[in-house]
Amino acid sequence: MVLRFALMIDPVASLEKGGDLRSTLRVIDPSAPALELGDLSAQRGDGVFESIGVVDGHPHEVGPHLERLAHSASLCDLPAPDLAQWRAAIQRVSAEAGPGESVIKLILSRGIEGGAIPTAWVTLATAPDNSAARRDGVRVVTLDRGYPLDVPARAPWLLLGAKTLSYGVNMAAIREAKRRGADDAVFVTTDGFLLEAPTASLLLRIDGRFVTPSPSAGILHGTTQLSVFAHLGQRGFETGYENVPVGDLERADAAWLLSSVRLAAPISAVDGRAVAVDRGLTDELNTFLLGRRD
Ligand code: PLP
Repeated sequence: MVLRFALMIDPVASLEKGGDLRSTLRVIDPSAPALELGDLSAQRGDGVFESIGVVDGHPHEVGPHLERLAHSASLCDLPAPDLAQWRAAIQRVSAEAGPGESVIKLILSRGIEGGAIPTAWVTLATAPDNSAARRDGVRVVTLDRGYPLDVPARAPWLLLGAKTLSYGVNMAAIREAKRRGADDAVFVTTDGFLLEAPTASLLLRIDGRFVTPSPSAGILHGTTQLSVFAHLGQRGFETGYENVPVGDLERADAAWLLSSVRLAAPISAVDGRAVAVDRGLTDELNTFLLGRRD
């Protein structure tokens, strides 16, 4: 993704001072060097982020993304982000987006090693073309995540459920999926439960009911999944968070990967076996997701 616009946020500028929040944002050249080499985001992946989908200049689900940024920061013992300041930054960056689909990234790093001040910045890029994934679907393979369902409570230092910058494992899983002839992966626990994809939530329709793996399993609570559940609820469908056994992925009468930029991508194959795709509902979900205006 080519960055089109970027700004640095001064994270110590305080709202209480009553200043103009926009004066705490500094537009920078998105193609020029901007970080010090000692920044812990670069050195250790030590920080948190969010990716926000933008359609025709409208950023989607800003509130839930900011809440998740604050939640991730808290899990990582980072200073609480000033959400009004980040909201002002999103507004400023969205104004540059123009027509079509874009991606805004919010990044909060622990800052320079030994210092106490986080580094924070926001970028804007054109979104990749996701029309094929939305139309034709994605072939997934199930991959072992290497721990059982109850690990998040026993080992909070694993930071499961935080959207950290350390996505090396997630990217490795996608490469493994491609090596196996698929497009994407679905992580499963060692005791046989579905989790999430490396960059998306999982949604299944089983006997007419929509379920997603519970965020208590140490996965991200997807903003797109929240949006889709609200939509499905309005349409009169039952929705729920559950511990979902792996076998349900093939048993489901339809399943999707949901995320802010790709939106609803139907799952078309699991571990090399074709599964049913509900094109009508997929189109409806994507029309709804693209049409959001908050
Ligand atoms: N799970 C993981 C690991 C992700 O990285 C993402 C998005 O990047 C999601 C789920 C979906 O979250 P959202 O719908 O908020 O984009």
